[in-house]
Amino acid sequence: MDCIFCKIIEGSIPSKKAFENEHVLAFHDIEPAAPVHILIVPKKHIPTMNDVTAEDGALIAELFTVARALAKEHGIAESGYRLINNCNADGGQTCYHLHFHLLGGKKLGPLLQ
Ligand code: 5GP
Ligand code: ZN
Repeated sequence: MDCIFCKIIEGSIPSKKAFENEHVLAFHDIEPAAPVHILIVPKKHIPTMNDVTAEDGALIAELFTVARALAKEHGIAESGYRLINNCNADGGQTCYHLHFHLLGGKKLGPLLQ
C-alpha cells in the first residue's frame, strides 16, 4: 500500500517515536510547526476523518487518551496545546492516513486564517 504512515508503522520508513502500543503510534513530525509537534495515528489504515465508523469509537478514544498523556509527558498539559485533524484538500490534509497533530510549547497563533 502506498501510504507513508503505514510504512512508518511497519518500520520501513524511520521515525522518532513518542509512543507505541498495539493500536496506536505517535511520532514527531518531520517538519515541526511548534516546539512540540507529535502525530498520533491509529495503526489501522483509515484514510480520513470521513472514513471513521462507529466501530472505531474505542480506537478514536484511545487516540485522545494518548494525546492527553503525551501532552502531560511533554510538559504542555497546563500551558496548553492544540489537537488538530486536517480532513481532505480544503482541510489541508496531505497524508491520507488518519492522524491528529499535537501542537504546543509556545503561544500558538490564531487558528482560523
Ligand atoms: P497533514 O497535512 O496531512 O495534516 O499532516 C501531515 C504531516 O505529516 C505534516 O505535518 C508533515 O510534516 C508530516 N510528515 C509527512 N511525511 C512525514 C514523514 O516521513 N515523517 C514524519 N515524521 N512526518 C511526516
Ligand atoms: Zn496508512
